[in-house]
Amino acid sequence: MNIPDFLKSQKPLTEHYLSLAIGLGLTAGFLLILQAWLLANIINTVIFEKASLSDVQAWLWAMLVVFLLRAGLSWASEVTAFKAAARVKVNLRNRLHQHLLALGPVAIDGERSGEIMTTLVEGVEALEAYYARYLPTMALVVLIPLSILVFVFPIDWISGLVLLITAPLIPFFMILIGKGTQRLNKKQWRKLARMSAHFLDMIQGLTTLKIFNASRREIDTIQRISDDYRRSTMSVLRVAFLSSLVLEFLASVSIAIVAVLVGFRLFYGEIDFFYGFFALLLAPEFYLPLRNMGTHYHARLEAIGAAEKMLDILQQPLPKQNKITAVSKLLTSPIDIEFNHVVYRYDHRGEALKDFTVSIPAGRTIALVGKSGAGKSTVIRLLAGFIHTTQGSITVNKIPLEQVNIVDWRKQIAWVPQNPHLFRGSIRDNIALGMDNADDKAISQAAKLANIADYIDSLEAGYDTQIGERGQGLSGGQIQRIALARAFLKDAPIILLDEATANLDSESEQLIQQSIMTLATNKTVIMIAHRLKTVEHADQILVMDQGKIIESGTHSALLAQSGLYAQLIRTFAEVDA
Ligand code: ADP
Repeated sequence: MNIPDFLKSQKPLTEHYLSLAIGLGLTAGFLLILQAWLLANIINTVIFEKASLSDVQAWLWAMLVVFLLRAGLSWASEVTAFKAAARVKVNLRNRLHQHLLALGPVAIDGERSGEIMTTLVEGVEALEAYYARYLPTMALVVLIPLSILVFVFPIDWISGLVLLITAPLIPFFMILIGKGTQRLNKKQWRKLARMSAHFLDMIQGLTTLKIFNASRREIDTIQRISDDYRRSTMSVLRVAFLSSLVLEFLASVSIAIVAVLVGFRLFYGEIDFFYGFFALLLAPEFYLPLRNMGTHYHARLEAIGAAEKMLDILQQPLPKQNKITAVSKLLTSPIDIEFNHVVYRYDHRGEALKDFTVSIPAGRTIALVGKSGAGKSTVIRLLAGFIHTTQGSITVNKIPLEQVNIVDWRKQIAWVPQNPHLFRGSIRDNIALGMDNADDKAISQAAKLANIADYIDSLEAGYDTQIGERGQGLSGGQIQRIALARAFLKDAPIILLDEATANLDSESEQLIQQSIMTLATNKTVIMIAHRLKTVEHADQILVMDQGKIIESGTHSALLAQSGLYAQLIRTFAEVDA
């Protein structure tokens, strides 16, 4: 779908508000003609028929009423137009949000988060002017001048003809100028997105920048990018101003032509003052919608720039979801997992997993060990359903994972990542993430099992304590334990665990180890192990290298082999020491 079509296809989202806004605007347009008629009439009567004020008082009152009505209608039309735009914005934001959620974390890797943020926040905002101003103006630009022509032609065909001939000149020049602006605007959006990505990077990496004394350099870069952005803003504005200038000029010249022609004919007595004056009053109103279009044409260009980014997101294909089978069976029985010759490839790079085969009966604790880049996280991502096997299959109770409803499947999984993400909000909400109907008792029980209850109780606001973005205000160990409490509360039969590598104080570490052992009871645990203690307790250890399992067995059996595992264990021992 191309971008203008995409923008147009969102019109139904305005839910008739748009049509209502146009209707109100058009009614206001008719009142304007009436007002001009009244004014021409009053002046004609006063000057040429020597009427007194009391003679025209009724007309004056009528004019006041029309004037007030017009003001009311314009106001209502504007409010409705913004309502229409608000509907589109809410809907689009939702759609983008849903699509991003469905795409999952692997498709939206971290480097682009700044850009995605700009699209979600500013990009969607940039559409407001398009729906609230540009589209209503576009409708009125045809309707209002047409209605004016209908009134002017019968009473003064010469003025009508001037209006009719000069009108198309304005859109013609607008389009000429607009072509240039469109290109500039797209460039502008790309620059803005780049700038946001850069700012986000800088904010997230501030500690690193400070410690490496690189903030000076970073400031220079930001200055350069900002200056670049300023320059391109100015060039967009230059074209915008130029186009308004051309518009104003054309409109003024055309009105002047009407005035001169009316004047001459009045002088030679070829036209009645009333008709000439009426036509002259309507001339500026005739061009007004066209001039408005010039102002709001800019909004269209801006919207196109922003929509390009939205389409980028919305057109990313969602991971496929096949037909769903026998879910109930899966939900009730213990879950056995099998990887059969699984191959996984990110993009077109090499294989992150090669011929990965393992059978994980329900209740086992499996530890994945191996150097960084060995493919451990890929195994976890496949199981969580974020990515799908390139070749081979994963089955759960003999059902291919692709055929299991992903939502039902994720109910079976609890996930404790290396750096758990806590959201801004209360501790209670963070523990009960995704479990809207969890009661307080269950939450505090989960906190107890995760060894964090004592700490929470010691806080003044207890479970209602507000925590900041990414768990601000809590230590690394506390964040880990809150993440564990989440897993306890969810009470899923399968636990995916990526052990923390961060150095925690030994007390935290012990508490966390203890909770993990409790959590693992009677559950299938698949963990990426970074620590000696956890590896020792696993039922089966899979040693991975370059996407393959190269050794597998229990701790003692593997040690006896004195292969890669024995070597890794020595490294672990150093880390743990
Ligand atoms: P581990 O968890 O053992 O450190 P991963 O499973 O993360 O290893 O990575 C396995 C391989 O896949 C590595 O070569 C890595 O570069 C690659 N990889 C991981 N994530 C991505 C990604 N999002 N896009 C492209 N390649 C990736």
